[in-house]
Order: sequence, then C-alpha cells, then structure tokens
Amino acid sequence: MPIFTIVAGARPNFMKIAPIIHAFQRQQEAGVAVSYRLVHTGQHYDKKMSGDFFEQLNIPEPDANLGGGGGTQAEQTAAIMVAFEKELIENRPDLVIVVGDVTSTLACSIAAKKLQIDVAHVEGGIRSGDLSMPEEINRMVTDSITDHFFTTSEIANSNLRAAGFPDDKIHFVGNTMIDTLKAQMPFFKKPEGKIFENLEAGNYFVMTMHRPANVDQEQSLKDMIDAILAGTGGLPIIFPVHPRTAKNLQAIGIQAPNLLMCEPLGYLEFNYLVKNAKGVITDSGGVTEEASVMNVPCVTLRDNTERAETIHLGTNELVGTDPKKLRPYLDKIMKGEWKQYQGIPLWDGKTAERIVEILVKSYS
Ligand code: UDP
Repeated sequence: MPIFTIVAGARPNFMKIAPIIHAFQRQQEAGVAVSYRLVHTGQHYDKKMSGDFFEQLNIPEPDANLGGGGGTQAEQTAAIMVAFEKELIENRPDLVIVVGDVTSTLACSIAAKKLQIDVAHVEGGIRSGDLSMPEEINRMVTDSITDHFFTTSEIANSNLRAAGFPDDKIHFVGNTMIDTLKAQMPFFKKPEGKIFENLEAGNYFVMTMHRPANVDQEQSLKDMIDAILAGTGGLPIIFPVHPRTAKNLQAIGIQAPNLLMCEPLGYLEFNYLVKNAKGVITDSGGVTEEASVMNVPCVTLRDNTERAETIHLGTNELVGTDPKKLRPYLDKIMKGEWKQYQGIPLWDGKTAERIVEILVKSYS
C-alpha cells in the first residue's frame, strides 16, 4: 500500500493541501489501498494564520506538528529540516508531497530527498526570476530535486522543460487553490464586526500587503498607502493586516476614516469580501489567482510575477512597487473599465483528483 506524507506549513499552503487530502479520503472510501500522513511544520502557528483554516477548510488534525515556527530564514529552515528528518525516519513514506513556495516547502523536500524519499511538488515550475524574494529560492531549490511536478500553467511546463526536466516528470493538472475556492464558494460569509456592517457590494476595495519590498521600509509603506487612498475616491478599503506588516504599520501611524484595518480574516470571510469588491490591491500570489477566477479587478504591487497567466487570462495587472504608477490603474477600476476573466486551462476545481489519481497509480 502506498504511503504519502503531505506537508503544510504556512497560510497559503492550507488551501492547497485541503483538496488533496479530501481526494485521498475519497479514494480510501472507495476502497483503494492508500495511506497518508499530514505533517504541520508549525511555520505559521497562530490561530488566525493556521488553526482557523483547518476548521473552515475541513482539514483533519495533523498527525504530527513539528513546531518549527519563528526565527530567521536559516533558523526556521534548519529547525524544520531537523524535525522533519526525524519524522521521516520514524514514519517513512514512499513519497513526500510539498506545495507552494514557503520555507517548509524547501526544508521538507531537502530532508526527504537526502533520505532518498521521492518528492512531489504541487505548483512546481513557476518562476518570477526575482532572487530577492525568498519564495523564488524556495521554488528553485525544491524543483531541482523534485520527482513529480504538478503544474498550474503551460508557462510552468515550459520553464521546467527549458531547465531540462523530462516530460514524464511534468504533470499539468491545474490549481489546487482554485479547487478550494470553487468548493468553498457556497459557504463564503460576511465577516462579523462593525467595520464590515455598511459595506455595499461593488463599492469597496480589499487590500493585502506582506512582501518585504512593500512593508519593511516605513516610508515606502506610507507612500504606497497614501497613493491607494488618493486613488480610490474615498471608498472603504478593507485591509486585513498580515503579522509581518503590523509592526511597521503601527510605526507610521497612518489613519484615514475609510482605511478599515483588521486582523487576518478567515478564508470564507476574506473571499466573501474579495468576491464582492470593486477591486483588490495586493502583493500576494494566491490572491491574484482567486480574484481572477472570481472576475474581480486586481492590481499587484510587485515588479514581477510567477503567475503570468493571471495577467494574460485573468484580471490581474502588474503595477510595481512605485506608488506613482498606481493611479491610472485605480482610475480604470473606478470607471469600471477593467478586463474580464478569460478562463485559465484546468483551473476547474478537479486538480486534486488528478494529482491523487496519478500518485496512486505511480506508487501502487
Ligand atoms: N487569505 C485569507 N485571509 C486574509 C488574507 C488572505 O484567508 O486575511 C487567503 C487568501 O484567500 C489566499 C491566501 O490567504 O488563499 C494567500 O495567502 P498569502 O497572501 O499569505 O500568501 P501568498 O499567496 O502570497 O503566497
């Protein structure tokens, strides 16, 4: 019987593993002999960044929690590697499944491969070309030792082929984050709280920011928020603040009656707000995918993206990190002149099923 270990560590991982676990559960219910273990590395550990997602997305309690949160990039990588190696020696699987591009993705794939355990990378092959982002390093190192790439786009396939990986390792399956989006859409709910009470559909913005390039320098964070306030015509801007952003936001002490800040929201509440928003302003990768599929205008405050399909076929535009460039994009959203979602191949809600089918077949 094939045994798989699934790794999750940080917020954007939870939406990606949930449908994979549910697909494994369906296989087991259908009598297929397959076993999986869920390992939480503990990279994100507070309730708002982790526990709430397990509840909302119906993810079972992890079989192991490695407690690898906190510290610098290297400290965190090291702590997760040490703990995950021990986990793998005690519970050796046939394959480790990692998702996305966080520290846990990198640390766990290295630990597995050094024990000669196969690695599958869900969302493999995407590249921003920007090595100043830790995520890009995580993607490159993970992909260099991956046995099965499960890809979200033709661009990812081309990147992998160009790097010399053979076609039989590349499985173009779509996007598990969109599986979760489609499955959970009927359950989206308006968040509770005074700041959300008077929001009108189509008449507010949602904003998220957590990349070091945007939030680590107080002045540039302030300049960007000022530019956003100037270009959104006084409409409410809901801003769930990522823990990384909170400290500097406090330091710059920015306040405006229509800038409505709150703690990170649950998945169902956050995506309720995105679905009904006039526009989304973000530096997140996952949010650009979700906004695209929900046909909501999205501007990305980054100079590059590893998800170019959200620009070519989705509703995303790359604005960059210079606040002066933002205004024309916001004007276009305000005037209702945004491009429409064209559909992205295989982002159909059935990606996890395809992944699990391929893995069960390969390891049975
Ligand atoms: N998200 C959420 N609550 C929030 C902000 C984001 O549930 O307050 C979700 C969002 O819908 C998406 C994921 O978190 O599924 C994106 O995570 P993040 O922006 O941390 O990571 P990235 O995609 O940039 O790697």
